[in-house]
Amino acid sequence: METREIFGATYMTKMRPQDLLLPTPAGLCCKLGGFHIDPVRSVERALITHGHSDHARAGHGAVLATQETLDMMRLRYGENFAGSTQAVAYGEDIRLGGVNVKFHPAGHVLGSAQIAVSCNGMRIVASGDYKDAPDPTCAPFELVPCDVFITEATFGLPVFRHGNAADEVKKLLASVALFPERAHLVGAYSLGKAQRVIALLREAGHDAPIYLHGAMEAITYYYRSRGIPLGELRPARGVKKAELAGTITLAPPSATSDIWTRRFPDPVTAFASGWMRVRARARQGGIELPLVISDHADWDGLTTTIAATGAGEIWVTHGQEDALVHWCRSKGLAARPLDLVGYGDEDEGEGEGETQPGSQAQPKPEGSQDAGSEA
Ligand SMILES: [Zn+2]
Repeated sequence: METREIFGATYMTKMRPQDLLLPTPAGLCCKLGGFHIDPVRSVERALITHGHSDHARAGHGAVLATQETLDMMRLRYGENFAGSTQAVAYGEDIRLGGVNVKFHPAGHVLGSAQIAVSCNGMRIVASGDYKDAPDPTCAPFELVPCDVFITEATFGLPVFRHGNAADEVKKLLASVALFPERAHLVGAYSLGKAQRVIALLREAGHDAPIYLHGAMEAITYYYRSRGIPLGELRPARGVKKAELAGTITLAPPSATSDIWTRRFPDPVTAFASGWMRVRARARQGGIELPLVISDHADWDGLTTTIAATGAGEIWVTHGQEDALVHWCRSKGLAARPLDLVGYGDEDEGEGEGETQPGSQAQPKPEGSQDAGSEA
């Protein structure tokens, strides 16, 4: 019944955005095209924006994603992570059902994409995670003009201004020069952040071997196989303690506080994350050297991007939705948290601040290490 009405509206009157893309318990759904974007439950056909585990899950029927995202899913979940796969190039025209789909670079991690969904002259861009800051390890964010822009809000508060990542890497190198007898352990999310930190170290002229925690090896070597220059890399495993003095090792954030660190001489613990802007976070985590390096847009990046898309309507998800929704409205844009889309056009989103059960728009648990590590 409802479907018939929607189809009727499609042809008789102007299409509404929520007729094209709608949040459902399985994730953002395009009924007309027969697919979901970054679904949280198994679906028949999934379009995946990038390889991070909160977006790319195993168990879907068919998966469409960039070659890099498919490869990362393969690395993480094994060969049989989906019934079938289709690699999509940036800018390639794809037709699914009655809907046009195009992947555009998101600048977040290698292979990351914004997914533009168009039908009857309306275009919605689901940006996944994105950043507008330069990153030598992935294609730069591409601005895609659209009617509705779906934005993340991981750092959607004015307090979050990441600054220049190259300056943070200079701090790390200054510390290495200052403490040549100590090892430096840099906590960094193993997909994207670690490789970006390595590439930034190389850009800053650091050409000594860089050591890797075992959990970093496969994905980092994969980056290198895709032509990202990362210089000489060595496994930290099996190296004598004394040899690690004056060196830099990349490790998952959880490893920098566990027994694993005992193999390093008097280690200086660093953490590369947008959350390091918050001093209490660094203190809590026992981080000696906080490095504000993020693969997500900061407040200025989010607001500048939103304005530049020309979209009149903004759907906000993943993080600090309220402040960003408020900012959008102050600029005359229609805006709402993504999980409220389709729940009534007059909804101002000022309820309990709770998400719909099972919706894809659940905020990241702020205090958790995972939320920090991916940022
Ligand atoms: Zn991500």
